[in-house]
Amino acid sequence: MANNEDKFKKVISHAKEYGYIFGSSEIYDGLSAVYDYAQNGVELKKNIRDYWWKSMVQMHQNIVGLDAAILMHPTTWKASGHVDAFNDPLIDNKDSKKRYRADVLIEDYAEKLEQKAQKEINKAAKRFGEAFNEEEFVATNARVIGYKEKKAEVLSRMASSLEKENLQDVKLLIEELEIACPVSGSKNWTDVKQFNLMFGTKLGASAESATDLYLRPETAQGIFVNFLNVQKTGRMKIPFGIAQTGKAFRNEIVARQFIFRMREFEQMEMQFFVRPGEEMKYYEYWKEERLNWHLSLGLGKENYRFHDHDKLAHYANAAADIEFNFPFGFKELEGIHSRTDFDLKAHEKHSGKKLQFFDPELKENYTPYVVETSIGLDRMFLAVFSTALQDEALEDGSSRVVLKLPSILAPVKIAVFPLIKRDGLPEIANAIIEDLKWDYNVFYDEKDAVGKRYRRQDANGTPYCVTVDHQTLEDNTVTIRHRDSMEQERVAIVEIRSVVEKTLSLKHWLNH
Ligand code: ATP
Repeated sequence: MANNEDKFKKVISHAKEYGYIFGSSEIYDGLSAVYDYAQNGVELKKNIRDYWWKSMVQMHQNIVGLDAAILMHPTTWKASGHVDAFNDPLIDNKDSKKRYRADVLIEDYAEKLEQKAQKEINKAAKRFGEAFNEEEFVATNARVIGYKEKKAEVLSRMASSLEKENLQDVKLLIEELEIACPVSGSKNWTDVKQFNLMFGTKLGASAESATDLYLRPETAQGIFVNFLNVQKTGRMKIPFGIAQTGKAFRNEIVARQFIFRMREFEQMEMQFFVRPGEEMKYYEYWKEERLNWHLSLGLGKENYRFHDHDKLAHYANAAADIEFNFPFGFKELEGIHSRTDFDLKAHEKHSGKKLQFFDPELKENYTPYVVETSIGLDRMFLAVFSTALQDEALEDGSSRVVLKLPSILAPVKIAVFPLIKRDGLPEIANAIIEDLKWDYNVFYDEKDAVGKRYRRQDANGTPYCVTVDHQTLEDNTVTIRHRDSMEQERVAIVEIRSVVEKTLSLKHWLNH
């Protein structure tokens, strides 16, 4: 465990040190659970997005893309069920105007009871010294028993009230316990109400006429509301899919674990529309396809597992997560959901528009069923980055930090070095860059000894380093050094492209 925690800390600090991820607005001490992708991070993220996009859209004749707006008509979220979901109980103090989570206020109170009991125990321990029997004291001391019983009673009442959605009783409990606002000290509370995880915002300038909107909590609804437009204008026949990548926003209450759980994040989703009754066939198909996509990147089969849901969301008739072995254990990376006709039917009802498909083979209209694949881009970034980061022991007894990113995802593909800064070597290195930059993200470095430059590129995940030396002046050859094997080979300048392109092509990765 300590090892994993250590590893996770290394991942976070490496991501910062090498320009992958910074905390948002760090000069102002950051914003919790919001992150910025830096010069290398933005490339890695883009490459992951492209890898997903190409494998889903470009590789499937019956899947097309979409880029719907983040802001959507507010009724969308009524229809989807989001307005009534994402509940956390909130309460405001009327004097300080501060907002709290009602359950947290009560839990803090319970924690104080626990601390009071602990104080009694500490006092007794001091008094009795060596002879103190803590177990016996806790079991017999009236005060300690009283505090502990009260704590259990408070927590169990809260749990049962929340379970029954009895928010009045949650407020009553806060009043009975005489919980005061930590800021104003007053017990002047509003009623408890449910807090929605969606971020609200306003459309329009004047306060009276402004419309309440939400920042989308998922990209999927942008696809559903465009189902008919895409189907008709693209003349799509069922089964077909619509894919989309883009930002989603959730006002997560517990937001920890770096970019695993963010308030602003990016999703890559695909909704596959099928004939009713055929959804299980496609559900199984997409489970396998998506796992194969993950495996194609070579992060290790043992790092993935399926978790089938026993408890299904209101819209689903089957659901599974692809879990990944993150530094903090196996956690959801992607969801595959059989969403039935819930969303299209709900939008049909709320919009009054028919969202159906006329099936020319069956000669009938129906509301398609939907199988969804939904993956968090940031979580995928974390999966790739944390697995790639390795501390490797070398044969000569030294070690190196190497970021073994799949080369198709690496931010910089080729670093080009002149061995020294004179004798015309920089000019040749720059000419090589000029030629390669049309196809690849390349990087020039002439600072420090070449060994040090190799190490820097290892830690940055660059799969190839090309070094120009004095022999180049004679025979137009260079060395290519491979990141993972550290092997070097001598090739003609005109052959650089053919050496690297083998492992930098989509076909190489998706097709093996
Ligand atoms: P979790 O149970 O971890 O909160 P979820 O089941 O709510 O996730 P979905 O609504 O199924 O997630 O969203 C699909 C995908 O979006 C998830 O598999 C995950 O990769 C990603 N995702 C969801 N919430 C976040 C978040 N707060 N930060 C980063 N990625 C997220």
